Amino acid sequence: MNNNGVNGREDEISRKRRHTSDEVTAFRDLEEDEENELLSLSLSFRPSRGRKVSSPGNSHSQQPSMTTSLPSPPRPPMSQSSVQQSSMSSIMQNLLRKPQPQLPLQPSPSHPICSIPPFVTESVPTLAPRQSTRTRRNPTQAPGEGKSDTIPAPYPWSTNQRATVHNLEYLLSKRILTISGEVQCKRCEKQYEMEYDLRERFDAVATFLLEKKSTMHERAPSVWMNPVLPSCRFCEQENSAKPVISKKREINWLFLLLGQTIGCCTLDQLKYFCKHTRNHRTGAKDRILYLAYLTLCKQLVPTGPFNR
Ligand SMILES: [Zn+2]
Repeated sequence: MNNNGVNGREDEISRKRRHTSDEVTAFRDLEEDEENELLSLSLSFRPSRGRKVSSPGNSHSQQPSMTTSLPSPPRPPMSQSSVQQSSMSSIMQNLLRKPQPQLPLQPSPSHPICSIPPFVTESVPTLAPRQSTRTRRNPTQAPGEGKSDTIPAPYPWSTNQRATVHNLEYLLSKRILTISGEVQCKRCEKQYEMEYDLRERFDAVATFLLEKKSTMHERAPSVWMNPVLPSCRFCEQENSAKPVISKKREINWLFLLLGQTIGCCTLDQLKYFCKHTRNHRTGAKDRILYLAYLTLCKQLVPTGPFNR
């Protein structure tokens, strides 16, 4: 398959055809991925990132500026949500208002954000050159490559860990302020790129999550299960621009989070996310979807109140 270098978005027909044939191949790849990953996962580390952390700001204190802004002790459950709410606001304020030119990147021991792909800095100002990093298929990819626990970061905002994005502090320090992704209209079928403002959209998601968390009971609400899609840029059909989701390892998780469209993923894709972020991954879709939102927020603000 030779899909690399296809950059004519206007050629819809060939694109769609390619998409279909890709899906077949992709599924085969994914099957292999699954097996390989099971193997490698069982051999690899299993830090208790995410799920065991039970109170705000108790560990992972790798980000001093954010840690200091958190209210210190866990409160009784009654006031939990308002506490979290206000702590989130201050987190966001801290993150949003401080220009953060050179914050040291200090990955927590359990969060191996280690490699910063060279293209990140280059592609930041205009976000245009990222094209080359976003090829959906890599023709040079050897069949056995899926065995690796790390992958080439599919986006400038992704780490080389599967289903993992860089934290907000890092992204802002690299001036990655806009997150883009492919969507396709369900009506006119045009495929095009959309962008979200990282801070604004994350603020909205995080605020919603923290406000509603106590009433969600660890299940995604219907607005997440059946997300309202953006209107189509071309035919203006409402609720129609659906994120394009291809290979699992190339799912644009941050784009889905910001659009609050993670619910467009299949159960299988969500399980992939949970597996690689070391979350419990059985259960109904609403539970796994909830975990995906929570986990992604935590990836963005590791010291934030995004614990189960
Ligand atoms: Zn349309």
